[in-house]
Amino acid sequence: MALINENFLNIPSDYLFSEVAKKVKSYKVTRPKRKIIDFGVSDVTQPIPSVVAEAMHKAVDDLSKADSFHGYTPKNGYSFLRDAIIKHEYAARGVSIEGGEIFINEGAKSDTGNIGDILGQDNCVGVIDPAYPVYINSNVIYGRAGISEGGIWSNIVYIPCTAETDFIPDLPSGKLDILYLSYPNNPTGTVLTKEELKKWVDYALANDVLILFDASYEAFIQDSTIPHSIYEIKGAKKVAIEFRSYSRTLAFTGVRCGYTVIPKELNGFTLDGTEVSLNKLWRRRQDIKYNGASYIAQRGAEASYTPAGMAQVKELVDYYMTNARLLKEGFTDSGLKVYGGNNAPFIWVRSPRSMTSWKFFDNILYEYNIVGTPGCGFGPSGDCFLRFSALGSREDTEEAANRLRKKL
Ligand code: PLP
Repeated sequence: MALINENFLNIPSDYLFSEVAKKVKSYKVTRPKRKIIDFGVSDVTQPIPSVVAEAMHKAVDDLSKADSFHGYTPKNGYSFLRDAIIKHEYAARGVSIEGGEIFINEGAKSDTGNIGDILGQDNCVGVIDPAYPVYINSNVIYGRAGISEGGIWSNIVYIPCTAETDFIPDLPSGKLDILYLSYPNNPTGTVLTKEELKKWVDYALANDVLILFDASYEAFIQDSTIPHSIYEIKGAKKVAIEFRSYSRTLAFTGVRCGYTVIPKELNGFTLDGTEVSLNKLWRRRQDIKYNGASYIAQRGAEASYTPAGMAQVKELVDYYMTNARLLKEGFTDSGLKVYGGNNAPFIWVRSPRSMTSWKFFDNILYEYNIVGTPGCGFGPSGDCFLRFSALGSREDTEEAANRLRKKL
């Protein structure tokens, strides 16, 4: 008899998106002629930049010829891509990262979820709230989250990010071992300044905390003073793992490619206090459970660092950030309080009169025929908010902004 990992049974079903779909469906039944604009999902809508697509075509040609065929790819990625990342993502910002510290993967979701494989069961985990649900759910699977009461996990330390503090988290008073930070943040669309991020790195250095820093949306940062990488902060290589993704900048949500940085000076501890390199441990984990990202995807990602590739990525980012501005203006003109959207492709809209996320969802759906994601799905501090993605098409975004101004 195969026993299951019962922790899975404790994870709430995908109630949020199925409930959203149900509500949209019943609205459509009663008003079939109305066009609903969906900014709830965070998938991209614009195609892969042509320079990247051409490199992927060429990679397919390589694979189809005997003298340039590639089979299994290196588990930590090809050096052609790791070198390009080092040069353009890190050295260009004054950060020194070496090839052996980069692990190319198939997008940030799997590594942010799987990193717990190399971490002990008894760690105390802190998570900024609201945040990408993978952080908490993956810890539930590992059995680190405790028990859930009303969706709140007893062993997770929730670190609230609220409008009252400009969505800047305060240092927790209790002891933490692992901390998830995610900036630019999904769902609030907000960022941390260098000073704020330094506060967290200093805290981690002083308290032996491992920071899991999800920088999947760093390419959307417009303000030149905002750090793109946690390693821009002195000392961070001793305390932080960083996750990056090509999903939004290269339209790779379906292709799948990203990378994780684990500095060689970053250590974890055994129960008897012996230091162990997390880089070596993750390498071991990848040897056991992973067989590398595709050659085609990695050649595409490499091409994004050519001058023409970088120009096209900038164009794509500008497109979505213009959407963010239009959406933000539309919601603001409709009289609502709006956050985010300046350095991230997400708009975080506060409900009037502390209406719950779900009630607010209904109001926006019925009044404007626009769909957002209820903030309560990202954690308790997300209630009374809706998240809107700026990754939609310009046409839909302009129409939504006009509807918000005019009201139906
Ligand atoms: N991190 C954050 C904060 C996200 O919002 C997402 C996707 O929604 C991911 C990581 C995963 O991105 P991907 O697996 O496509 O790289």
